[in-house]
Amino acid sequence: MIWPYGKKAAFAIIDDTDDAEMPGIADVYDLLIEYEIPTTKTVWVYPVRDAQLFRGNSLTGDPAYLEFIRTLLRKGYEIGLHNVGSGAFSRCEILGGLEEFNSLLGFYPNLHVNHSYNPDNIYGGDKRFSFPFDLLVRLMHRDYTGFSGEVASSQHFWGDAHKRHIKYSRSYELDDLNLLRHCHFPYTDQKYSDYCNLFYPSVFCPNQDLFNDRITDFNLQRLISQNGCCIIYTHFGYFTERGEVDKHFRNTLDLLGKYSSDIWFAPVGEVLSYLERTNGVRDISRGHKLLLEGKSLITRVKYRYFKKLDDYHYKSSLGARHRQSKDE
Ligand SMILES: [Zn+2]
Repeated sequence: MIWPYGKKAAFAIIDDTDDAEMPGIADVYDLLIEYEIPTTKTVWVYPVRDAQLFRGNSLTGDPAYLEFIRTLLRKGYEIGLHNVGSGAFSRCEILGGLEEFNSLLGFYPNLHVNHSYNPDNIYGGDKRFSFPFDLLVRLMHRDYTGFSGEVASSQHFWGDAHKRHIKYSRSYELDDLNLLRHCHFPYTDQKYSDYCNLFYPSVFCPNQDLFNDRITDFNLQRLISQNGCCIIYTHFGYFTERGEVDKHFRNTLDLLGKYSSDIWFAPVGEVLSYLERTNGVRDISRGHKLLLEGKSLITRVKYRYFKKLDDYHYKSSLGARHRQSKDE
């Protein structure tokens, strides 16, 4: 794989906006700006509706946050959608939210990540998995089902708008910085092609404990030697929840900075469109998809029950309530 500017590997981050509030989130981004790491930040358009479970600023509810998001755009960061808000939103509100996004930022989002238990999630919950994994997910998490963003008869339907605007959808989270070792991406998936376009996998790093644990000297050297592509999935909103900006985060940024001559840091959309232009798009086979699903479930189990670093454990360390840690 040949990367732009003679770099040996690509590194992107998609930031899920859960818990992201001013001024903490701006402190995290000040560091990312200092280290010249442009990310993809997702946003909510409307204020949080399920405040007993989630918190976070929105484009329409917090003027200082809107200004912060516009500043990020000017600095080359990418802004995507994390549903129009946290909680239940009707089709009318969702379509209005997309228009609001466009009128406030000047474009429609081309990336979206499903959020937790939002009923308008697109192919969410057990629908992400094939038999027999879907059955397993239903058995393990009985309420992680019933999402209907792609169901035309649902009051939460917005699949048509999703298909029109959202180019890249996140698929499975894996436990390896070099995602190209696991599949060709972006890829199409016929099972979801009615309302989705292209898919990409991500690296499971939902909180700072995993972020700092996975981004190591050894793993970065391996990523570079494999000419790989890394797309980290995380919640930067968590990174100030233990007080100041997570103290290990700066060390991890130092490490990333050390390899800046070898690594191309770019937002997710830029990396994906480069891969699309260079390698083309392929359809994923059912067998290969099943393999990715299995790897993603194994990753979840590993960080829940063995190496206890997932969001369930992270939130427990804060003494905070966390809804089953679906962390999306
Ligand atoms: Zn979320």
